[in-house]
Amino acid sequence: MSDPIADARADGRTLLTEVESKQLLHDAGIAVTQAHLTTSADEAVAAAEEIGFPVVLKIVSSEIVHKSDVGGVALDLADADAVREGYQTMIAKVSEAAPGAAIDGISVQQMAQSGTEVIVGVTTDPQFGPVMMFGLGGVLVEIMKDVAFRIIPIEPRDARQMVREIQGYRVLEGVRGQPPADIEALEAMILQVSEFVSEHHEIAELDLNPVLAYADGAIAVDARVVLAEPEAVEAGG
Ligand code: ADP
Ligand code: MG
Repeated sequence: MSDPIADARADGRTLLTEVESKQLLHDAGIAVTQAHLTTSADEAVAAAEEIGFPVVLKIVSSEIVHKSDVGGVALDLADADAVREGYQTMIAKVSEAAPGAAIDGISVQQMAQSGTEVIVGVTTDPQFGPVMMFGLGGVLVEIMKDVAFRIIPIEPRDARQMVREIQGYRVLEGVRGQPPADIEALEAMILQVSEFVSEHHEIAELDLNPVLAYADGAIAVDARVVLAEPEAVEAGG
């Protein structure tokens, strides 16, 4: 089986694609919508038929960080025609919005049902090393900076506190007749990510943005792993 980290190193890349990132996370037992790389509209249709409709198409490029900014995300495609058409349109749009970016192909994944969007992430602090992050998705993280941080490795108690200390916890508890989110599933995912990063020292950044939280369970629909520069790994051990 391929090793996404070794592949990226061999190419001199630090950014893993969503397909590669999710392969690593899935292998570690973390719930993700697995993304299947395809390189033609026919292959994308075949993959979609195997996964089951509706599906999501996304651009696969290690040179594109924000896929939706360049027309690289197509949600909720209901049938083979929509996938075929979506494939061609996406290649055209992305080539125009990100000229020169090397495109590996387009990934196909299951369209997840809607849920409360949260972010589970890891950054590296120059002083403390890897730091775990949790917040609600969208404007709450970007504008309100409503985020909880803990130095990795964390304990179950840390995960419990992280989820509860953000302002957005009230949203997770259930608002306006919405059922509460599965808080235990979120705590478990935070712990799994902390463990995963502890076992992979070469990971400098990790972003599950968003994770969709449901009344029962949670799943990451986007994932991004960034490796440390090779010299930093050698120096830091
Ligand atoms: P970006 O690189 O722009 O962050 P994402 O993969 O996060 O792209 O997709 C953009 C948005 O599309 C997500 O924030 C989420 O709301 C939605 N989305 C992405 N993948 C899925 C999926 N598999 N099922 C349902 N919604 C999805
Ligand atoms: Mg995203």
